[in-house]
Amino acid sequence: MNFKIALIRGDGIGPEVVEEAVGVLETVGARFGHSYEWIDVLMGGCAYDAKGTPYPEGTKEACQRADAVLLGAVGGPKWDNLPPALRPEKALLAIRSDLGLYANLRPAALRPALKAACPLRSDIADKGFDLMLLRELTGGIYFGERKRYQTEDRGEEASDLMKYSEMEIERIGRRAFELARLRRKKVVSVDKANVLETSRLWRAVMHRLAAEYPDVAYSDMLVDNCAMQLVRDPSFFDVLVTENMFGDILSDEASMLTGSIGLLPSASIGDRTPGLYEPIHGSAPDIAGQDKANPVAAILSAAMMFRYSFRLAGEAAAIEKAVDLALSSGCRTADMAGSGAPLGTREMGKIIRGNI
Ligand code: ATP
Ligand code: MG
Repeated sequence: MNFKIALIRGDGIGPEVVEEAVGVLETVGARFGHSYEWIDVLMGGCAYDAKGTPYPEGTKEACQRADAVLLGAVGGPKWDNLPPALRPEKALLAIRSDLGLYANLRPAALRPALKAACPLRSDIADKGFDLMLLRELTGGIYFGERKRYQTEDRGEEASDLMKYSEMEIERIGRRAFELARLRRKKVVSVDKANVLETSRLWRAVMHRLAAEYPDVAYSDMLVDNCAMQLVRDPSFFDVLVTENMFGDILSDEASMLTGSIGLLPSASIGDRTPGLYEPIHGSAPDIAGQDKANPVAAILSAAMMFRYSFRLAGEAAAIEKAVDLALSSGCRTADMAGSGAPLGTREMGKIIRGNI
């Protein structure tokens, strides 16, 4: 097949890690008989430098023309003092909203070779875990009405409105059940239904959906309990689905269980729109341009692209296996603990390509 992939190389280590992911995509293409049309798209601090705006005209259209978007990282201290509307992060929010990306997928898997990096008790780490956190990305308290005002007798007062519609809950819920069908067929929906009305609606919609997916095991969990269960035994979970703020907090908790920030990919997806795939790490300006960045998060983002946008699980698995093989044979970049001289970005990419 031929795939159109928009590349947002971005700032800092972004271009370095995207280059390695592109190399891996090319190798997988050669092996499985796919070709690509690359669409280079300017966005972020580099776009501000070149065009005076982090989100230039045409960026959105170029991404919409693609089958999927691969993003490195945008932003950095060089642009931190710009007015908010011109900051690189603003472009990231704009592209997510323009592409209607309401579901954020964050896998947190302990790679077999990195069990020692897991901060959990060794008997728990030995069991390993492989969970997928699905966070609602465009609703809830982060997008509700905000107020701040003076009262007569209680000083200043503030409020944030938490709001969800059945439509918003249903579309993320369906994603969760469909994801589970590609995995171990188990969904845990996380809410605070003992207190919040939005959570009661969330739970009602999820129960209705669960009846439509009888092949998927379903249960509810309160968010406070979930925070505890994640560190008690993450191997209990397959797919976790939750609203925006709970997902924000739980996804950081889950990602720390796996070791290095340089390993974790993510995807943001919507309906009938290209998915956006990116490492969870930022532009790491402290190591940019030094061939030190770990390219694995970007490479695993390319694997997610195959699995969730192109629906080609074999290609995705080939990439993941190549990464695991590199790690289990002792290959490490500087961010991952280990003895011996660390590998550079390009060398790590080359070894992973070789394993494919
Ligand atoms: P952002 O606001 O863009 O998310 P941040 O301030 O959260 O950025 P990162 O850019 O993610 O931070 O960097 C945090 C630390 O992790 C830095 O020390 C950076 O060098 C390191 N780091 C991030 N990504 C990688 C990577 N791929 N390889 C090695 N080290 C990394
Ligand atoms: Mg960050």
